[in-house]
Amino acid sequence: MALQLYSTLTRRKDAFQPIDPARVRLYVCGPTVYDQAHIGNARPLIVFDVLFRLLRHLYGAEHVTYARNITDVDDKINARAAARGISIRELTEETNAIFQEDATALGCLPPTIQPRATEHIAAMIEIIEKLLAGGHAYVADGHVLFSVPSMPNYGKLSRRSLDEMIAGARVDVAPYKKGDLDFVLWKPSSEAEPGWDSPWGRGRPGWHIECSAMSSAYLGEVFDIHGGGIDLVFPHHENEIAQSCCAFGHDVMANVWMHNGFLQVEGEKMSKSLGNFVTIRELLADWPGEVLRFNMLKTHYRQPIDWTLASLRESQRELDRWYPVAKQFADSEAMLAPEFIAALEDDLNTPDAITAMRRLYKDATEEVAFAGARFASCGRLLGFFEKELNAWEHWKPASFRVDEILVATKINARLEARKARDWPASDRIRDELAEMGIALKDNKDGTTSWEVKR
Ligand code: AMP
Ligand code: ZN
Repeated sequence: MALQLYSTLTRRKDAFQPIDPARVRLYVCGPTVYDQAHIGNARPLIVFDVLFRLLRHLYGAEHVTYARNITDVDDKINARAAARGISIRELTEETNAIFQEDATALGCLPPTIQPRATEHIAAMIEIIEKLLAGGHAYVADGHVLFSVPSMPNYGKLSRRSLDEMIAGARVDVAPYKKGDLDFVLWKPSSEAEPGWDSPWGRGRPGWHIECSAMSSAYLGEVFDIHGGGIDLVFPHHENEIAQSCCAFGHDVMANVWMHNGFLQVEGEKMSKSLGNFVTIRELLADWPGEVLRFNMLKTHYRQPIDWTLASLRESQRELDRWYPVAKQFADSEAMLAPEFIAALEDDLNTPDAITAMRRLYKDATEEVAFAGARFASCGRLLGFFEKELNAWEHWKPASFRVDEILVATKINARLEARKARDWPASDRIRDELAEMGIALKDNKDGTTSWEVKR
């Protein structure tokens, strides 16, 4: 089977045909760096990392270019920097550094390029000038706006009616706007706001223009795959398409548009007011990154995902079983299992790929030839088994990082109590340790070992 991908443009799975198989090009909208990424943001990170890995496997690592931008100019950034009393640069550097560490901890390969919006202002201005020259944009009150009625097939990606688009765009009604759906390409900046000189005065770009500029700069005017979360279909991606197609004169911007479904936590939309808003950072204190990654990939990327503690525990248990077997075959280079690759080639069906791995794991434990080696290879393709077995088995969540001297003292006290046949004291100490999350194991030779319970 060859690679098939579901595209939001066609609303079906199509055979994937790269424009140039020697240079397969993928663009994914990256973070706005004003605050720590939450577990919902981890979904596109992980999903498109799996796509990147699959494309590298199919076309050769050097033939795939993956660009994921960093939005480092945005009004949310200005507001947060002001609230914290730090410079915009300090805020974006700090947030981006945390984001990069989170992505690495989640087992994501670095994209080929991570362009920053603030380093591509000239390219944005150039596109805006093209749009003005082509009659697709107009200047009003210091702003430059994209004229939506100038594009006949605007709305092709989201397939919404005009009324729905107007409601969904939640665009500010501004007196200088000619059409309700017209959106900002450039806006003026006050002295206090970040700004760049432009033909329309000192100002800053709108959000959508960044992605048109950065994708065309690195991947060309038309490229293969554009990705992001489902919430970006409208207006962000619709507007990216409008800008790029009207500026460059093509019918399409990217051939395939892929969108991951939304993530909710314990059955509810994540929100600060509900108190179920979890950052990747917080989760990484309690779970290894590979457990978070595995938990994400058990659901198909287009389905909504309900992020629960129960499924996290299950993911941890399964990886705990898998790790020793995978490590036994760590050095063997085996062929990937055909059913595993077929699952991934079927629109990135990671749950089916994991099912294939479960079968291989079972065969591996029954010592079926090659199963173990295949099992380990499949896992590595998905970004698993990156840790040493010892490191995996001794990893402890931050909340369980224990005072080892205290534990040793208590264990000795308990051994003394047992020697003295003081069973109530022995039991009391065991209970105290259990309170601390420590499980004891009495060995035949009279010593006691312990582990942290999860
Ligand atoms: P943002 O920083 O809000 O622009 O989001 C960065 C990426 O995360 C975008 O691709 C969003 O679509 C995606 N995203 C945000 N929230 C969620 C969520 N709850 N579930 C899945 N994806 C999300
Ligand atoms: Zn974008």
